[in-house]
Amino acid sequence: MSVLGVYGVEHASSMIYYGLHTMQHRGQEGCGIVSVDADGKMKRHRGMGLVSEVFNEQKIAALDGAMGIGHVLYTGAASRSMDNVQPLYFHHGSGDFAIAHNGNVVNAAKLTESLERRGSLFHSHSDAELLAHLIKKDDPDEPRIFSIIEALKQMEGAYAFLIMTKNRIYACRDKYGFHPLSIGKLGDGYVVSSETCAFDTIGAEFVRDIAPGEIVTIDKKGIRSTIYAEQCKCKMCAMEYIYFARPDSDIEGCNVHAYRKESGRRLYQESPVEADIVVGVPDSSLSAAQGYSEASGLPYEMGLIKNKYVGRTFIQPSQALREKGVRMKLSPVRSIVNGKRVVLVDDSIVRGTTSRRIVNMLREAGATEVHVRIASPTMTHPCFYGVDTSTLEELMLARMDVAAACKAIGADSLAFLSYDATLKSAIGRTDMCLACFDGRYPTELYQNIEDVNK
Ligand code: SF4
Repeated sequence: MSVLGVYGVEHASSMIYYGLHTMQHRGQEGCGIVSVDADGKMKRHRGMGLVSEVFNEQKIAALDGAMGIGHVLYTGAASRSMDNVQPLYFHHGSGDFAIAHNGNVVNAAKLTESLERRGSLFHSHSDAELLAHLIKKDDPDEPRIFSIIEALKQMEGAYAFLIMTKNRIYACRDKYGFHPLSIGKLGDGYVVSSETCAFDTIGAEFVRDIAPGEIVTIDKKGIRSTIYAEQCKCKMCAMEYIYFARPDSDIEGCNVHAYRKESGRRLYQESPVEADIVVGVPDSSLSAAQGYSEASGLPYEMGLIKNKYVGRTFIQPSQALREKGVRMKLSPVRSIVNGKRVVLVDDSIVRGTTSRRIVNMLREAGATEVHVRIASPTMTHPCFYGVDTSTLEELMLARMDVAAACKAIGADSLAFLSYDATLKSAIGRTDMCLACFDGRYPTELYQNIEDVNK
């Protein structure tokens, strides 16, 4: 999922539209935009599908105004419904407001139950709706930021919320800083985005990252910071660097392409192998493959081609869809791999089905050996923070050791990047969330590990 807000820019919804396009890789199930027009009236359009399917020129033009927020959605199969497509939009006597959200609140079920007992009714399974219920609106004269702070303090887990009223946007990040959220400047206005790649597309200039436990208020006075949480930590999701984010995004001062390239270099230092060529799995592993190639001196070759018009496999919500997706989206280049010993670099192994299929494809195309090198550690635990890695029983490396996994995917050898090198590849960082690799979750979980993503 990803969020994008624009304040103080003419035709804000067009900017949001282009920005959401650049973040389509973060969610392909639905998207939406809410704008505030010159009279302070909120207007929304949203739908299931890609940004290019949901919006057209007419629909964008109808969302007039100089302020708006947008969202692209990814959910598990269970939550796949129009009700969950954001931004959510609420009417209230104290003033209408809209909310967009990225992440996963781990105590959502507990908070929802307690609110329902007190009479709240929910339309969706979205954390954005939960936040709307938690924001108290008793005193219309009290600045809304106080009730937002009180609401956020009750929520545990990963979240980046954009809350928009008719006058301002509040950009809020959880106290662990699991997922990125940055501010940019566009003319006299501001942009806030889950990924900095959106800034380049719409011509905004990066200003700074929003800190863990911070709310940034954006309105006609400019931007103001409120630190609402104590004991903040910097637990950026390692998978943002490894797989999720676009290579042209910078996350907390570290470029994603540079991270992946460094991880590839370290992967070679830790797990060299005799071979003829290095091939990366497009797109998220190409940077790591380049790093491996440079460090090893082996030529980097385009041994796999991606059909750009098929969605990501990892992000599609059912196994059947994912398997179909892999078959449609990757093809081996026979003239390159035929008769070669190939080092195949991939970013991670989740269920193992994609790896098995790719190894098989390369062998069918004539590769004499396929040595798989993974630019992250063995993934042994599910994620609770909004990245749908998989359930515990589906994770290949939770069920078997590396030797058995090597056999299962049909490779000649298999090696993973060490935990230490994964952290050190993010130059300048001293900490990250690596819980799906080591099970050390930064928060309480509020549910059994076996039940996640079911
Ligand atoms: S558990 Fe893994 S995927 Fe989830 S936030 Fe932590 S590093 Fe990211």
